[in-house]
Amino acid sequence: GTLTLETIQEIITQKSVELLHLQFVDIEGILKHVTVTAEQLEDVVEGKMMFDGSSIKGFSPINKSDLYLQPDLNTFAVLPWTVEEGYAEARFLCSVANPDGTLFEGDTRNVLKNVIDKVADKGYTISVGPELEFFLFEADEKGTPTAVLHDNAGYFEPSPKDLGERVRLEIYRALKAMGFTIEASHHEVAEGQHEINFKYASALEAADKSTTYKWVVKTIAKKFGLHATFMPKPVFGINGSGMHVNMSFFKDGENAFYDANDKAQLSQTAYQFIAGLMENIKSFTAITNPLVNSYKRLVPGYEAPCYIAWSASNRSALIRIPAKRGVATRVELRCPDPSANPYLAFAVIAAAGLKGIEQGLEAPAPVDADIFHMSEAERKAYGIENLPGSLEASVEALQEGTIGRETLGEHVYGEYVALKKAEWDSYRTAVHTWELVNYQAKF
Ligand code: GLN
Ligand code: MG
Ligand code: MG
Ligand code: MG
Repeated sequence: GTLTLETIQEIITQKSVELLHLQFVDIEGILKHVTVTAEQLEDVVEGKMMFDGSSIKGFSPINKSDLYLQPDLNTFAVLPWTVEEGYAEARFLCSVANPDGTLFEGDTRNVLKNVIDKVADKGYTISVGPELEFFLFEADEKGTPTAVLHDNAGYFEPSPKDLGERVRLEIYRALKAMGFTIEASHHEVAEGQHEINFKYASALEAADKSTTYKWVVKTIAKKFGLHATFMPKPVFGINGSGMHVNMSFFKDGENAFYDANDKAQLSQTAYQFIAGLMENIKSFTAITNPLVNSYKRLVPGYEAPCYIAWSASNRSALIRIPAKRGVATRVELRCPDPSANPYLAFAVIAAAGLKGIEQGLEAPAPVDADIFHMSEAERKAYGIENLPGSLEASVEALQEGTIGRETLGEHVYGEYVALKKAEWDSYRTAVHTWELVNYQAKF
């Protein structure tokens, strides 16, 4: 719904909200906030809160560092874990603006807004249902994460094996109080791994909710003395954590991906959207899978994709079409992981799909066989290519393609490439435990 200043003022009075956190994300999607008092609400809503942009990763140079926060009223939420008798805290998610009031081009929330506008110019709105998986690790007395997984349960296992039930219950309650509609909560395939699903929403709301979800999961886990992580592959040899992105375009209130007359009940638009993703996927993997560690998840055998193919049901494919049709018809992209900045991830995915539609691209035939068990020759026969195998390869592909620069804009694109190159270089030159284990005694 749309919150008005009056409603927010009423909630503040009724819940005794004393502090307001003004939140935004940096280029990596990492949450930041500055705290003000509830008395400042009017100034805050008028966008008068200034901060030093030169201290935020990927934002402004030191000589043009003054930036302003423009709270999105719809993101107002009282923080359930702060509520006491006569005291509470609340937050807003904000867009970042320049001193002249224009939207700041370094803010990734604005990048997504631009794509939403571009898609709207073609008559579509974007719905997104992300699925963010995470791991719970034990923490020591000081709260530092250890390498010990919190439990050893598996997919859909109940207590007493699942030790995360209470934690997920508290996360669910907090998210619900903050306006989420929760659809499912379960133990995931790997030990210590969990997933809580919230209802799909418009692209901006879904990205805001993904940001909020990650913060709430970490905050509640900490209250249980645990550490929640969204790093994509924390443990070798078991599943990593994905952020499947279910996306659909709507036109005139109807799902534009659904066509009752097609043999797979998919519209021409859906096939073109799929083709747009497949055509551009290598050039945007650096956005959806942003870490060195992301590529340790994208290996065969762990329900994460590594080959570029689509299918109606195949969980080894990059793109799956979940069985639901009608308004729920959607394309599920399975490579993204939850370390991605959701604003940038949803932006490039929507932009790639739109390109497919605009250019009238044709989707290749679906691959319903298990791709993980195909030989290289079989994959070649199907024309199945590989996703980039490392951050280095994906950043190269990002630079070779056009989708990244076009979608992110010069500012974010430039900062992003520089950041990722530095990250790869730091990893490339570091000496890792694997090297000592394999080389130190032998050579
Ligand atoms: N954890 C798997 C991944 O890395 C997904 C498993 C699932 O949701 N079926 O994407
Ligand atoms: Mg799921
Ligand atoms: Mg899952
Ligand atoms: Mg899924």
